[in-house]
Amino acid sequence: MTEATETESRKLLGRLREVMAESNAGQARLDSIVKLIAHSMETEVCSIYLFRDADTLELCATEGLNPEAVHVTRMRMGEGLVGKVAKTGRIANTADAPSEPGFRFMPETGEEIYSSFLGVPIRRLGEKLGVLVVQSKTKRGYSDDEVYALEVVAMVLAEMTELGAFVGEGAAMAARHKNPALFRGGTGQEGVAEGHVWLHEPRVTVTNPIAEDPDAEKRRLFEAVEALRLSVDDMLSQAEMADKDHRDVLEAYRMFANSRSWLRRMEEDISRGLSAEAAVEKEQSAARARMEEVPDAYLRERLADLDDLSNRLLRILTGQGSDTGAEMPEDPILVARSIGPGELLEYGRKLKGIVLEQGSVGSHAAIVARAWAIPLVIHAGKITTEALNGDHIMVDGDQGLVHLRPDDNVVSAFRDKFAMQAEAQKRYADLRDKPAESRCGKRVELTMNAGLLADLPSLEPSGAEGVGLFRTELQFLVRASVPKRGELAAVYKRVMDSAKGKRVVFRTLDIGSDKVLPYMKREEEPNPALGWRAIRVGLDKPGVMRMQLQALIRAADGRPLTVMFPFVAQFEEFRAARQHLLDELDRENALGHPLPSIVEIGAMLETPSLAFAPRQFFESCDFISIGGNDLKQFFFAADRENERVRRRYDVLNISFLSFLEHIIQRCDETQTRVSYCGEDAGRPVEAMCFAAMGLRSLSMRPASIGPVKSLLRRVNLDEARAVIEEARAAGAQSVRVPIMDWLRTQR
Ligand code: PEP
Ligand code: MG
Repeated sequence: MTEATETESRKLLGRLREVMAESNAGQARLDSIVKLIAHSMETEVCSIYLFRDADTLELCATEGLNPEAVHVTRMRMGEGLVGKVAKTGRIANTADAPSEPGFRFMPETGEEIYSSFLGVPIRRLGEKLGVLVVQSKTKRGYSDDEVYALEVVAMVLAEMTELGAFVGEGAAMAARHKNPALFRGGTGQEGVAEGHVWLHEPRVTVTNPIAEDPDAEKRRLFEAVEALRLSVDDMLSQAEMADKDHRDVLEAYRMFANSRSWLRRMEEDISRGLSAEAAVEKEQSAARARMEEVPDAYLRERLADLDDLSNRLLRILTGQGSDTGAEMPEDPILVARSIGPGELLEYGRKLKGIVLEQGSVGSHAAIVARAWAIPLVIHAGKITTEALNGDHIMVDGDQGLVHLRPDDNVVSAFRDKFAMQAEAQKRYADLRDKPAESRCGKRVELTMNAGLLADLPSLEPSGAEGVGLFRTELQFLVRASVPKRGELAAVYKRVMDSAKGKRVVFRTLDIGSDKVLPYMKREEEPNPALGWRAIRVGLDKPGVMRMQLQALIRAADGRPLTVMFPFVAQFEEFRAARQHLLDELDRENALGHPLPSIVEIGAMLETPSLAFAPRQFFESCDFISIGGNDLKQFFFAADRENERVRRRYDVLNISFLSFLEHIIQRCDETQTRVSYCGEDAGRPVEAMCFAAMGLRSLSMRPASIGPVKSLLRRVNLDEARAVIEEARAAGAQSVRVPIMDWLRTQR
C-alpha cells in the first residue's frame, strides 16, 4: 500500500465524516455517501443494499443506477452477485459480471451496461447488514487497494448503521434495535418469564469510527495492546497451577496478542483512516465471519479466542469496561452467548430467566436454571447482537421462544398465559398439604430434585415430601479447585437442617460426560456420554468419592443418611461403591465421630443393563431411583443433548413403559423401594402413566409438584392402566393419544 493510496483513503473517510456531520438524515445521507464514493473511486456506479429482513436485501441508495429502482429492487439472500456477497460474506471482484455464475440482471436498475463489479459485505461483528457495490462500464478488475478502501468504507457504514445514522427522514432503513424480534430456540428449562434484558457481556459501541491522525491512533492501539499483553501475562502467571486446558487458552491469547499479522492488519486499517477501535472491530468482524465457515472445531475455538481478545482490546480502548455504568433492571433476564455455572451463580436468584445463543439441555447453565426453576431458552439465534440492555423481553421456555421488544398483541397473549399459570399455581398451593392420592386410593410420594442450598426453601411451599435427588456436582462445578471436606460437610449439614427431618437423597458426584470439572484433567473421549463418568470415575479414583462420603457422614451427625450412586451399570460397581461407604462408616466410627442413625444406600438405574442385574443386586439395594434422563437416551439410543434427536422418542412409548414395568416388577419381587427422578416425572401426563404402571414415588422440580399432584388426585389409575393395556394389546407405538383422549373424558 503506497502512501498516496493511504492519503486517498483517509481523504475519502474524512469527507464521509463531513457528510455525517451535515444535518441530513436517513435517505439524504445515504445518497450523499454513494455519490461521494463513486466520485472518489472514479467509478460510475456506487450502490448500497441493506437488509430489509433476515432474508431480503433492498437497494437503498445508488449513484449511477436508475434512481427509481431505489427501494424497489430487492433480492433474496444468495440471489445474484449482491445476494451472494451477502450470503457468503466474501468479496466479489470481477471484470465481467454478466459472465459470472449466479449473475442476475435486474432490468429496472439499468445495470446491463456495467461490466465490472466489486461488492463487499457490510457487517458488524459478524452480523450481516448489507452489501456495498461499485460498478463500471470498462472491463477492469478492481485493484487490491481499491478493494481494501471499499472494505474500510463498508466498515464505517456498518458502524454508522449501528448508531442509527440512516434512520429517519426518507426512512432509508428501519431503526435498529427498536423493532420487535422473535427468536426460536430450544427449551433448556421450562417456564415463562417477563422482564428486561441484562447482557452478560455489554456491547461495546464505537462512536468514532473515523480518525484524522493515524499516528495518534496507532499509539493508542499499541498502548492498548501493551495493556492487553500485560493482563494476559498476569492471567498466565496466576494460572500457573491451573489445568492444561485453561493454560492452552491463555497461551493462545498470548499468541494472538503478540501476533504481528493481526497487528499489521489493524495498523493498515488505521493508516486508511479508521480509528483504533474501528480497526479492532473490523478484524473482529472478519474473524467472526470466518468462524461461521470453518468446519474444524480447533480452528473455530482459536477464532473464538481471538474474538474474546478483541473484546478485551475494545474495552481497553473505549474505556467501556464490563461495568458500563448501566444498572441492572429489577426483573433481569440474562442474555448471553454462553455462560459458565460459576458466572451464572454469581448473579444469584435475582434472575427471572436466561437466554443463550449456545448451550445445551445438559449444560451447567441448564442445571442451574433447573435448580432455580427459571426458564432457559438455548440456541436463540444471534440475540446478543440484537438485544440492548433494558429491552423488554418475554421468555417462553415451554416453547423455546423469545420475544424481544414484543408488540402489544404478543404482550397480552403472553400475559394471559402467565396469568393462567399463576392462577394454576394458586390452585396448586391449596393442594399443598393434601396427599397425591388417586381416585382409586393409590398414594404416590412426590419429592423434589435439588442441587443447591438455595433450592431448599422450595421444600415447604411446593408440598414436596422430601428431596428425592440432590445433585451434588454443582458444589464441585462452581469452584476453581476441589472443595474441602469441611466445606462440603457444612453445605450438606445445612441442606439436612433445612429439610427439617425430611428425607434427602444425596447422589454422589456425577461428573464426566457433559459435566466437566474445571480442575479435572480431561482426556478427549470419542463419546463422553458413554465414557468415563459418574461412578466409573468414583471407583477408579476413589479419593474424591471417599472424601465426599466422609463429609456426608459428618454432616448427618447422628441423623439418618441416604446416599445413592449414579450411573451404576452392573452389580459389581454398586457392591464396590457400597463397600466404600461401609468402610468410611467404620473409619468415622473409629475416629469417634457419631454415625448416622440409619444409612440407606441406593443405586440409580440409568443404563438398561441394570434392569437385568442378578436378584442379589436388588436385594442389596435399599432403593432404586430411575434416572430417566439417561435411561431414556440409552434405551432409545438418542443423545439427550442432541436437538435433532432428543425429542424423537417418547417415554409414553409402549416399549419404554413395558421396560419400566419390568424394573418395577424386579423391585417388587425383592421389596426394593423404587422411584423415578428424571425430568419426565415432572410432566403431569407422563407422571400419571408412570404411576399407572406401578411407580409410587416420583421426584421432580418443585414447580411441577402442584400440577402433578392435581392430576393424580383427579384420576383413577386403574382406569388409566386399562387404557394403556388396551393400547398395548392393539399394537400402538405410544399411549399418548389414547391417554389424552381418555383424559378429556375425565372431569
Ligand atoms: C437422570 O439421568 O435422569 C438424572 C436424574 O440425572 P442427571 O439428569 O443429573 O443426569
Ligand atoms: Mg443421569
